[in-house]
Amino acid sequence: MKQSEYLKILNLAKSTLEDYDNWGETEIYKTSQKPSNKTIPEKQQKIFTKKPLTSKEQLESLRKQVDNCKECSLGTTRLKAVFGHGFANADLMFIGEGPGYDEDHKGEPFIGRAGQLLTKIIEAMGKTRDTVYIANIVKCHPMIDPSNPEKRENDRPPTPLEMQVCKKYLDMQINIIQPKIIVTLGASSTKGLLNREEPISRIRGTIQEYNGVKLVPTYHPSALLRNSSLKKFVWEDMKKVMHFLNTGEI
Ligand code: SF4
Repeated sequence: MKQSEYLKILNLAKSTLEDYDNWGETEIYKTSQKPSNKTIPEKQQKIFTKKPLTSKEQLESLRKQVDNCKECSLGTTRLKAVFGHGFANADLMFIGEGPGYDEDHKGEPFIGRAGQLLTKIIEAMGKTRDTVYIANIVKCHPMIDPSNPEKRENDRPPTPLEMQVCKKYLDMQINIIQPKIIVTLGASSTKGLLNREEPISRIRGTIQEYNGVKLVPTYHPSALLRNSSLKKFVWEDMKKVMHFLNTGEI
């Protein structure tokens, strides 16, 4: 072997051993043992001492993704994305179908007439909008005439495709919040999560499960505005939910 080749191999071996030495130092630090007598560079310390994000911080980060999302056509016609509202570690989560006119203008879920009725239901359960979590299966306003977001009475239910595309955000919200129980409001969100075909009048009040979380479907508050005789059924369903939250039994 020529001397130059021999030196090349020697240098390569030396640099590999140096890399291995640094790698070993990192592994030792990862296991929280004190590194011998070497000082850990400041940049490296920052990486290893970084705290995990809180649920609230994770939701805020996801909210930014939703604010910029245009993965379905609703993203091109909405005024404001409506991410969700409430406590990041709520036991109870309400899920509706999608934002309407008021929600699209303010970026807040359930703030129109149906939303005010939902707020009353939540308060009758001894809770507030800030102690539960409220979201929709799609985050942008589904409109009959998408060219006119300023028109009232322009709402429609989301299509199965819109729900399918957007549901990943809801799944991430559920995963972050980890509620004990979910209430789906109306046929769209119930069908979107459970993939069941029964009418809401038949499936409401039953105990279902979604991704390991208990789920109770009930009527959408807008149905109660059209037909107040449905209120008693919603209250029956909410009593089941409260019983579960108080006792862990259902
Ligand atoms: S509805 Fe959902 S998927 Fe469609 S643009 Fe809005 S955030 Fe994105």
